[in-house]
Amino acid sequence: MEHDHVRDVDPAVADALESEVDRQRSTLQMIASENHASRAVLDAQGSALTNKYAEGYPGERYYGGCTYADEVEQLAIDRATELFGAEHVNVQPHSGTQANQAVYFAMLEAGDKILSLDLTHGGHLSHGHPANFVGQLYEVEQYEVDAETGYVDYEGLAEQAAEFEPDIIVSGYSAYPREIEWGRIQDAADDVGALHLADIAHITGLVAAGVHSSPVGIADFVTGSTHKTIRSGRGGIVMTGEGYADDIDAAVFPGGQGGPLMHNIAGKAVGFEEALQPEFEEYAEQTVANAKALGEALSEHGFSLVSEGTDNHLVLVDLRESHPDTTGGDAEDALEDAGIVLNGNTVPGETRSAFDPSGIRAGTPALTTRGFDESDMQTVADCIARVIDAPEDDDVKSEVRAEVDALCDANPLYE
Ligand SMILES: *Cc1c(COP(=O)(O)O)cnc(C)c1O
Repeated sequence: MEHDHVRDVDPAVADALESEVDRQRSTLQMIASENHASRAVLDAQGSALTNKYAEGYPGERYYGGCTYADEVEQLAIDRATELFGAEHVNVQPHSGTQANQAVYFAMLEAGDKILSLDLTHGGHLSHGHPANFVGQLYEVEQYEVDAETGYVDYEGLAEQAAEFEPDIIVSGYSAYPREIEWGRIQDAADDVGALHLADIAHITGLVAAGVHSSPVGIADFVTGSTHKTIRSGRGGIVMTGEGYADDIDAAVFPGGQGGPLMHNIAGKAVGFEEALQPEFEEYAEQTVANAKALGEALSEHGFSLVSEGTDNHLVLVDLRESHPDTTGGDAEDALEDAGIVLNGNTVPGETRSAFDPSGIRAGTPALTTRGFDESDMQTVADCIARVIDAPEDDDVKSEVRAEVDALCDANPLYE
C-alpha cells in the first residue's frame, strides 16, 4: 500500500504506516476484536468527508453543504436497517463504547443501577468497570458465567436481578465463546421491569450474516462496533425501536458527541454494502467454522478451552491446567515473537490478575478475511502449541515463524 501523499510531507509517519501494513501482512492477526477492512472501506475512511462538519442528522443539520454527507449517512442507515432489521439505527457513535454511553445517558440518571457481566468473565469496561466513568456514575453489580461450564449463568442472573432490581441489564461480551440466549436475559429484565441493552460489539458481523441469533426485536437497545466481525471501519452503532429513537439520537448528539466522523460513516456505509452481499454470509460461516477447527485442534494438543469449545469467532484458552507455569502474558509475548498476534486474557475464576491473566483469547475474523480455512487453522493450532510448550525456545520460534511466513504468502492481504 502506498502512502505517497503522506511521504511527501512526513516520511516518519509514512514509514510507520507502511511498516504497519507489512506487520499485518506478515503476521497472523488473531486478536478476536480485530479484522482487515477492505480497500474500499479504507478508501472511504480516508476521504475528504473528514473535512465536513455535519452536526445533526440527515436533512436536519446545523451546517450548510451537507448534501453529500446526508447521502452517505442515509445510505449507512438504510443498509444497517436492512442488515439488522432494526426500526431505528443511529450510525454516528464514534465507537462501541460511545454507543453504550448513549444508551446509558438516554435512559439512566446518575446513581441508577446497571447489572452487567464481570470483566474477568468476559464483560467490557464500558459495562460499568470502576475505571470507566460508567462504573463511577452508576451503581453497578456484576453477574458471572457458571464456573463449571463457562456458560452464562442465566438462572443466577435472574435471581441476582430480582435481588438487585437493576434499571438496565447489559448482555453481550468481549471474551465469550458461546451463543448468547437473548430471550432468557430479556425475560430476566422483564421480570424486574429493567431495560435490556444487548451489546453485540464482537459479533456484529455474525448477527448481520445470521450465523448468530439476533437480539434485534428482543432487547430494548442493541449496540455494536463496526470494525470487528463486520469489518466496516472503526466506529459504533446503536439500534432501537421507534419508541426510543428520539431519546437515542439526542443522547448521541448533542448529548455525548459533537460533529459526526463523516469519513468513518462513509466507511460504515461501504462496509455494510459489502456485508449485504451473499459472500459475506459465507465469510461469517467460515469465521465460525475456523474458530471451531482451531478450538478442536487446540484441545487435541491438550489445551483446555473455557466452555470446552465455541459457537462463534473466538476461543478462550485456560492455561492453568495444561501450562501452570505459563501466564497468558508469557504466551502472548512468545507467540508475538513467532509472528502470531493475540492477547492474554482473564478466564472465569481468574486466580491471577487482569495485568497477568491465566488465559489467551484467539479469534478468527481477520485470518478468515485473508482466506484461511479449517486446514490452515490446524497448522495455526500446531504453531500455537509448539510455542506455548516451549515459550523460551528461540529455535522453535524461528521454525514457527517460517510456517507463519508460508501461511501469509499463501493468503495475501491488500495486494
Ligand atoms: C469491543 C467492545 C466494545 C466497544 O469497544 P470500542 O473499542 O469502543 O469499539 C463494547 N462492548 C464490547 C462487549 C466489546 O467487546
